[in-house]
Amino acid sequence: MNGPTTRLAVVTGGTRGIGLAIARRLVSDGFGVVAASRSRVDDLPWGITWASLDVTHRAGVDALFASLPRLDLLVNNAGLAGAQDRDADDALWHAILATNLTGAWYCSRAALTRLPDRTGRIVNIASVLGLRGVPDQPAYVAAKHGLVGLTRAMAMQAAPRGITVNAICPGWVETAMAAQRYAEIGISAEQAAAGVPIGRVASPWEVADMVAFLARAGAGSITGQAIPIDGGSTARA
Ligand code: NDP
Repeated sequence: MNGPTTRLAVVTGGTRGIGLAIARRLVSDGFGVVAASRSRVDDLPWGITWASLDVTHRAGVDALFASLPRLDLLVNNAGLAGAQDRDADDALWHAILATNLTGAWYCSRAALTRLPDRTGRIVNIASVLGLRGVPDQPAYVAAKHGLVGLTRAMAMQAAPRGITVNAICPGWVETAMAAQRYAEIGISAEQAAAGVPIGRVASPWEVADMVAFLARAGAGSITGQAIPIDGGSTARA
């Protein structure tokens, strides 16, 4: 799958949910894809190769990126959500920050040593909670706001080389993570959809399409942006 001329993408958390949709979409656009996650997955679709990675462990991140034959696109998609009340264990705070924010920093820093000038791309999967707050998820909101800030900082670092760095900020997307969150806040999938201005939650494919667009040569002037895919939620007064 990885001939020397095949563009290569790394999608962290590319084994399920939004990450798997992104990986599949990139394969259909001609990329070879490395889906990197902690749990081994052997039955990934053609064109997607699993790699063992915990984004919170810097040495493992550096080793993975050093081992790649080439790198054209990094998608920082690995994420961890979870509600916290005031007495929640500190470990959850640290795990959420480490996965959503520090992990993206480790991967981006390693990727920048491998990405080619002019065509290299980084896309961060943030959240509308990187742009807005909710009361019961302080670590997740802080981490995703941090990821939007990291996007802007890395975009400025990479701009002189013509490498773009952007964030996508989804609202509800139909995945296991969303289902867990519906249960936490005691709403049904139908109630979640009814709260979105367009009356439905997004599909993982809609996020994947935006990644594919940002990866194209024609998107080379778009950098440092945080792009909502939220059915209008952040546009509402
Ligand atoms: P899932 O929980 O379905 O998938 C998460 C993926 O990340 C899995 O492949 C998981 O694999 C991987 N992962 C988790 N922790 C690590 C780690 N430390 N190192 C490497 N991989 C890890 O999530 P979604 O598909 O729903 O979400 C994907 C991204 O989109 C996340 O960043 C999330 O915050 C964001 N998002 C999701 C929304 C939604 O409604 N679903 C809305 C807005 C944003 P493994 O456990 O094997 O490591």
